Amino acid sequence: MYVPAQDRYETMTYRRAGRSGLDLPAVSLGLWQNFGSQDPYETQRAIVLRAVDRGVTQIDLANNYGPPPGSAEESFGRMLATDLRGLRDELVVTTKAGYRQWPGPYGEFGSRKYLLASLDQSLRRLGLDHVDIFYSHRYDAETPLEETLGALRTAVESGRAVYAGISSYSAQRTLEALEVADRIGLRLLVHQPSYSMLNRWVEQPDDEAGGRSLLDVLGDAGLGAVVFSPLAQGMLTEKYLHGVPAGSRAARGGSFSPTFLTEEVQERLRALAAIAADRGQSLAQMALAWALRDPRVTSVLVGASSPEQLDENLGALERLDFTEEELTRIDEHAVDAGINIWAPRSSD
Ligand code: NAP
Repeated sequence: MYVPAQDRYETMTYRRAGRSGLDLPAVSLGLWQNFGSQDPYETQRAIVLRAVDRGVTQIDLANNYGPPPGSAEESFGRMLATDLRGLRDELVVTTKAGYRQWPGPYGEFGSRKYLLASLDQSLRRLGLDHVDIFYSHRYDAETPLEETLGALRTAVESGRAVYAGISSYSAQRTLEALEVADRIGLRLLVHQPSYSMLNRWVEQPDDEAGGRSLLDVLGDAGLGAVVFSPLAQGMLTEKYLHGVPAGSRAARGGSFSPTFLTEEVQERLRALAAIAADRGQSLAQMALAWALRDPRVTSVLVGASSPEQLDENLGALERLDFTEEELTRIDEHAVDAGINIWAPRSSD
């Protein structure tokens, strides 16, 4: 019988999501990888229960997480029905739809038909009657934003979601989404973009958006940024400093191509690890603290393949401040490394 740690809310830092009433943990846990039906359930359970014990209230999912797609929601649903029974309202459970989930014309993108059917399937797998945040997982140039955002509004109005969000939309597409949302009476709570020391697109001016960055747009509109892959899928940890270890995500083949780890990138990683050591942190901890240095970033959304990794990552919260000199040193090495595999999903 699992009993959550008594002090779990004293050790976590919570940050307000934009101009809303919702606090999110500065570090949240995502179940994109390592939570499929082929991954050992006991390891999954250990990671999630450690997260809950440490005050990580936000658990991030999507319809397609697994593999196979849907199995991460089933797995987390099993935990909600057992260990986490009674804790539902202490958690922020999120899901998304946008990528391919089932065959045929209604199994992906941004139609109302797909989004609402997918949400209903997610709720069944999770064993819940509502999620806390339902996201449009990617921009869909072929579907009017009125339809995609209208489906999110229906999700909220029907009680299947408490809040709505968008993910990976560019600064300009976010401005358009905000205009439509305003017109149809939908309040967007958060945006979920990729962001890390090696993938800084959210900070960069978007010409289409009049030179404003995504973070500028979100800050002005009062949306929180919940940033994903803040460790660049594990690249910003000490495990890849001298190659690709067996069993790592890069070794498994999939979303993390080992070709990202050029000699130049590895040199940058070693330089960043040296700065982290000077700060008394691991590279992973500094990478997370760095992503949180901007108050418009509400939460960093990490993945983990063991409870120990999660513990190390949560250690970032012990030192979040940076001196100007440290930031200047980091800027020398924290440059885009061509790893934003989500860029094609953000605009056209
Ligand atoms: P990440 O935190 O950048 O990478 C996590 C991976 O890095 C872990 O699975 C583990 O991989 C490795 N790792 C983590 N901590 C470590 C440590 N302390 N030491 C060594 N290795 C460590 O994040 P991510 O998994 O790419 O994404 C996080 C979450 O963001 C996802 O679960 C999902 O919820 C969300 N996300 C959303 C989208 C979207 O389109 N909205 C896209 C991607 C992700 P190993 O297997 O190598 O141990």
